[in-house]
Amino acid sequence: MQILQTIKETRQACAKARASATKPTVLGLIPTMGALHEGHLSLIRTAKKQCEIVVATIFVNPTQFGPNEDFSRYPRTFASDCALLEAEGVDILFAPSVEDMYPTSTSRTFIEVPGISDRLDGLSRPGHFRGVATVVAKLFHIVSPDRAYFGQKDAAQVAVLRAMVHDLNFPVEVIVCPTVRDADGLALSSRNQYLSPEERTRALALSRSLGNATAQASKGTHDASQLKSAILQDLQSTPTLKIDYVEIVDPTTLEPIADLQAGALIAVAAWIGKTRLIDNALLSATPPHQKITP
Ligand code: AMP
Repeated sequence: MQILQTIKETRQACAKARASATKPTVLGLIPTMGALHEGHLSLIRTAKKQCEIVVATIFVNPTQFGPNEDFSRYPRTFASDCALLEAEGVDILFAPSVEDMYPTSTSRTFIEVPGISDRLDGLSRPGHFRGVATVVAKLFHIVSPDRAYFGQKDAAQVAVLRAMVHDLNFPVEVIVCPTVRDADGLALSSRNQYLSPEERTRALALSRSLGNATAQASKGTHDASQLKSAILQDLQSTPTLKIDYVEIVDPTTLEPIADLQAGALIAVAAWIGKTRLIDNALLSATPPHQKITP
């Protein structure tokens, strides 16, 4: 695996990898912020099956963190991340510095996806998706992938990036991979390592409430307000859990919907102590719905 830190080297290495291929090649990109876990690795494994060249990135992107968020304490585990990526057969790892990605005197262009960017996490974290869209657009320009892999775990991010790719005509196919969970249902997240053992137990309320809602929907409850109340009740009964949002929305526009029959995204975010966690369930238009089982 080539480990590269500058935009220039990475652009050259990606172009060279394509040029030296003897047959048509598909280049897959997996953007991450590191502190890698099985969720990230599932994206890499899917890309390895579908692409001849696999490029991963590790960049804790300052522009997607708010001033009082966890940018400085976000887990950074570069050496073990490199070992994991190497073992998965990643071809190129791009791990730039903040200075290379955002030279302070010259960066002034940002990408906004109005509307979608201001819903769910975008509402709770103003400016978050502006940072995400901007850094992903930059990575697309640097790496020129054919496909880019993202996790369903960050459902609002997927909606924002799909809209950006569509609106700005990026020649990139967005592939969304299912959420990977621990055996007890907790969605894997780099932020789970902030949780104490007691907090981790409480955090299970997110996946449990989604699992209950999905089961109710499968049994024929299509009224979004009824399901939302059930989730809120479930979460409110968990000590020290502070609900950020519970929303039932259209997965593409993130606009609230009243009826689930045409499919829906049920998304939740909550604070467990100082840690903000998100989770979601994507319901298809036709049963059986995706089931979250411990
Ligand atoms: P992050 O490092 O948190 O920015 O995540 C990088 C990519 O991994 C994003 O596309 C996430 O949606 C995806 N990801 C994170 N956690 C999971 C998970 N538990 N299952 C599947 N994908 C995930």
